[in-house]
Amino acid sequence: MTESADTAWPYPVAPFVCHRCGNCCRGEGYVVLTEEDIAGMAEVLGLERADFLGRYAKWNKSLRAHVLLDKQDELKSCIFLNEDNTCVVHASKPQQCRDFPMKWRPENILDFCEGWRAAAGLKPAAKKTMSQ
Ligand code: SF4
Ligand code: SF4
Repeated sequence: MTESADTAWPYPVAPFVCHRCGNCCRGEGYVVLTEEDIAGMAEVLGLERADFLGRYAKWNKSLRAHVLLDKQDELKSCIFLNEDNTCVVHASKPQQCRDFPMKWRPENILDFCEGWRAAAGLKPAAKKTMSQ
């Protein structure tokens, strides 16, 4: 394999920095919870497991797992998303949230993730959720 002048190392790559836009915490889709996630969030909130599940989660038959509720607002914001885009359970947020966007990301990440867009040299996105 030969390298072109454009791809010969080193070439500039901007590091990913989260811009706290909150867009990954809104939209269609689910935050799927593991037992460790449930235990961690219940502890942070000072709740028993059953209380936590009753208030903040529902059982999803097809996924065969508990998923977080959304706020039932227009943008389908996660139940734990604060107005300033911080996370109520940040200290113990679900593994799925911890792993985004470095360990998993949807194909359309450049449509909504401001940090990813900035790293790619793109202007801010028009979208405010993962799906709209
Ligand atoms: S739990 Fe926190 S990080 Fe995960 S989607 Fe909800 S607000 Fe976002
Ligand atoms: S969409 Fe990207 S930049 Fe925005 S809060 Fe999520 S990880 Fe951070």
